[in-house]
Amino acid sequence: MTINRKHLFSLLIILVIALGTVSIASAYVGTGFSHDIPASKYQDLSASDILGKYNKTDCHVEEVGVCTKVVDGDTIYLDNGKKIRFVGVNTPERGVEGYITSKNFVQKLCLNKKVGIDIDDSKGFDRYGRTLAVVIVDGKNVNEMLLKEGLAEIMYMPPSEFNPFEWGTNGTHVDTTHSSSSSSPTSTKSTSSSGSAKYIGNANSGKFHTPNCRGVSRMAEYNKVFFSNRNDAINQGYTSCRMCNP
Ligand SMILES: [Zn+2]
Repeated sequence: MTINRKHLFSLLIILVIALGTVSIASAYVGTGFSHDIPASKYQDLSASDILGKYNKTDCHVEEVGVCTKVVDGDTIYLDNGKKIRFVGVNTPERGVEGYITSKNFVQKLCLNKKVGIDIDDSKGFDRYGRTLAVVIVDGKNVNEMLLKEGLAEIMYMPPSEFNPFEWGTNGTHVDTTHSSSSSSPTSTKSTSSSGSAKYIGNANSGKFHTPNCRGVSRMAEYNKVFFSNRNDAINQGYTSCRMCNP
């Protein structure tokens, strides 16, 4: 009896360690997102050229800081010590195509400049302790600009104060998946904020589901990846769940 318990206990420890390793290993993989927009597209544009194309945002500047470092297209450091993760979006990781372009774009707008942040009231931090926020430059929402320029994909992880589906995209990679018939926009304002995504992927298992599948209710929030159509999920390497058969 006691031996059995001991065995069970050590088995449990091993399982916990194994699961921990898997989740850490997959943490930086993201969704494998990349884009092929060349850095030269923005070479001759100034920050004000780019900012001039966008409207003022409804987001409110809660804090102001000087951007001291741009890690990549969705992470910057401020002189007040805060590490900011742009909420609602995901840009290519280091080593993935499009990384440099997205990073340069954010450098052009933010580096060594005063930027405002609107912190996500529903979830202020990500699992690495970075502050989740909309970054605001000259009254413009940089997260939204990244999406509209095609430099970022939507990464909606409720609960969140912000719904990136409402920011929209300019129909770049997200909607160009050779679907000639379905020219439907990513979302409309009429749909409820968390209901805009038609499919939900699990970044850990690589499966994607319909929103009401049992697999979704068991999924950790940080593993959820949202898709507006099947092709996006499949193009990013996700396979369909056998239970809900999306
Ligand atoms: Zn499912």
